[in-house]
Amino acid sequence: MLCNIQDGHILVSNKHAVISTSPLGVRLGHIVVATRKHAESFAELSLDEIEGLMKTLGQVLVAAEKALPAERIYVLRVNDKLAHLHFHLIPRQTGDDNLGTFIFGESGWSKTLAQAQSTKETELFASKFKRNFEAAL
Ligand SMILES: [Zn+2]
Repeated sequence: MLCNIQDGHILVSNKHAVISTSPLGVRLGHIVVATRKHAESFAELSLDEIEGLMKTLGQVLVAAEKALPAERIYVLRVNDKLAHLHFHLIPRQTGDDNLGTFIFGESGWSKTLAQAQSTKETELFASKFKRNFEAAL
């Protein structure tokens, strides 16, 4: 159903989306929000489903912003390698270049994947995130 998006560590889910940390994260706080049902484009979703998905995306962003200090969080829809509709949420830290090189740099997206995170920091982020997400319901 989620193709191979669920390879990540699932943090939370609801009827619209499954939210996980990326196992090949670009950096700490890298989250993937994927539609629960298989869809490859917004055109395959009803307006109600889009509303639920985007509301969930907002809820995830609020929870992530509270869980990890960051200048802001980039929201990317890439879908180059995996057709299943999903978003990458990647914190931008103070001092990062515009459109961070960890995303759009010369070395490209895939080379910075797996640079990510110590398990301890990831676990701490995950627990804060889950608490914030539930609180935002
Ligand atoms: Zn799928």
